[in-house]
Amino acid sequence: MVPPSSTAASGVLESVFHRLVSRRARVRDVEPVGGSFRLVTLEGDDLQGHRWVPGDMIQIGFAGFLGRAYTPLSFDAGAGALSFLGHVHGDGIASRWLASARPGEELYLVGPRAAIDLEAVTRPLVFFGDETSFGTAAALGATRERTRDVVSFFEVDSAEASRLALERVGVTTGLTLAVRSAEDRHLERVEDEVVSALRSAPNARCVFTGKASSIQRLYKAARRAGLSSRQVKNVAYWAPGRRGFSGVQR
Ligand SMILES: Cc1cc2nc3c(=O)[nH]c(=O)nc-3n(C[C@H](O)[C@H](O)[C@H](O)COP(=O)(O)OP(=O)(O)OC[C@H]3O[C@@H](n4cnc5c(N)ncnc54)[C@H](O)[C@@H]3O)c2cc1C
Repeated sequence: MVPPSSTAASGVLESVFHRLVSRRARVRDVEPVGGSFRLVTLEGDDLQGHRWVPGDMIQIGFAGFLGRAYTPLSFDAGAGALSFLGHVHGDGIASRWLASARPGEELYLVGPRAAIDLEAVTRPLVFFGDETSFGTAAALGATRERTRDVVSFFEVDSAEASRLALERVGVTTGLTLAVRSAEDRHLERVEDEVVSALRSAPNARCVFTGKASSIQRLYKAARRAGLSSRQVKNVAYWAPGRRGFSGVQR
């Protein structure tokens, strides 16, 4: 057994720590999707019977007491199984693991635990994110209201790969993909479209996820469009140069 949390670099202390605070799980399946995505299914007795709200995250444990957050698309509490869509974006510890993860591997994780309560978000809804948010968008489909009256905007590197990944996790309607461009010019269009969607539905809610600077920009645009801070949920998933965001809500 070589879980990400107990490679040769980690010690007995770390292993005891993970056993105390984490749940043990096993990789059941890893499906490469659209080149840079992995649809990962984890299972384990420790996951059975646990409560899950769409939008919750898990944190996978890695050597050095590191945790990396992912958003289950679905959770089967009876079987003790969950799936998430991981984006392989570079050489961070989780990206490296995702790129080489194999069925049968064991790991430790914390959660599912609160990140965004998608059940509590009323419609109409404007959702924004990027490649790290596809799982969250898919989890919207598991809410009582499902994807009724939801429009989604994603900033992405590759429209083609992203479409494949989104289709694979069942996100196929009401979405706009904006391919990243120099100096974030693509966000001008997204900002305009988000503002125009909000002007026609002033009682809308927003959920903004993904890159910290992008969601900050959209948050300001939503406030300028007249939304109150209570109507907008921001959860930064990552920021250039910063490692391992944990999903603090603002
Ligand atoms: C609540 C929550 C839920 C999340 N759910 C998902 C999910 O379902 N799927 C998913 O793929 N990710 C998700 N993320 C994002 C994921 O946790 C981060 O991308 C994480 O940094 C990946 O860890 P890493 O070890 O690969 O990179 P790190 O070691 O954390 O970072 C290494 C470098 O890569 C940069 N970096 C991190 N993420 C990206 C990125 N996406 N693109 C470009 N550069 C990046 C960092 O800024 C840093 O410079 C979620 C984050 C949060 C907080």
